[in-house]
Amino acid sequence: MSLRDLPKLELHLHLEGAAPPSLIRGMAKEKSVDISRVFCEDGSYDFRDFVHFLSVYEAATSVLKSPEDYARLMTAVLEESASHGVIYTEFFVSPDFCGGSDVTAWREYLHAMEEAATRAEAQLGIASRGIVTCIRHFGPDKAKPTALCAAETAGGWITGFGMGGDESVGHQGDYAYSFDMAREAGLRLTTHAGEWGGPTSVREALDDLKVERLGHGVQVIQDLALVDRLIEEDIVLGVYPKWDRHPIQALRERGVKVTVSTDDPPFFHTTMTREYEQLARVFGWRASDFHEISQTALDAAFCDADTKARLADKLKDHPQ
Ligand SMILES: [Zn+2]
Repeated sequence: MSLRDLPKLELHLHLEGAAPPSLIRGMAKEKSVDISRVFCEDGSYDFRDFVHFLSVYEAATSVLKSPEDYARLMTAVLEESASHGVIYTEFFVSPDFCGGSDVTAWREYLHAMEEAATRAEAQLGIASRGIVTCIRHFGPDKAKPTALCAAETAGGWITGFGMGGDESVGHQGDYAYSFDMAREAGLRLTTHAGEWGGPTSVREALDDLKVERLGHGVQVIQDLALVDRLIEEDIVLGVYPKWDRHPIQALRERGVKVTVSTDDPPFFHTTMTREYEQLARVFGWRASDFHEISQTALDAAFCDADTKARLADKLKDHPQ
């Protein structure tokens, strides 16, 4: 079994966070912007801790300035994902970085991204959708115009709304207004919770934002009543398994629905193939385990029934 060839679905990928360093370096050179400080000697992204990661991330993405830049980024990321057997990707996309959450500017960026995504689907067979994402550490007031961008462009490629950024800032509920606006526009909801924040952050996400999927969520393992609630309410976790003693297996064995993603792959020196290799090595996962998490991801995907049926056929086609 080639883990690279297994068909994969990825539900937790930040578009800018997936930017290949070579693309960002090339764009910086074209624009004569000096961002050499964000790279290590080996050419990869360089950061010390989560807060530094956010600042390197923002510096790296500062070279992405136009709809055309985002089209190039989308193409490069989808090519990379397709080369690892990914058949469906949900991107976190941020109007804050695409025209400062101005609806007219956002429409132009989105149009360029969507064109690139459509082209990649036709050429490489990789489908995708976008989840408009507000940035938690920018504060609740900044989230409102972002939610408006989401509501105004809901339907079609944009199918979800979510929140990323620094989990230590404020509370999930501070952003309820924006999540309500997105829900009323028909968008499906997710947020980052329980990665750095503990079980409280997960409980707040469920109670105050009423999300149906959680990015990370692994800290719930500290609170078994909360684990049971995730099972009861059919909440799906999009997990990036960073450590050998990662709770992904314990959560899965207990009955929580988990899916595997790479989050910001070049920043964490990973790919979907590498995550699969780790899961096979550390937990002994086999093709049937990977098939099960793909099925979970398919069920939890924020896309329409026709797309799901096509993806289901691709999963079925692959020998176990
Ligand atoms: Zn994330």
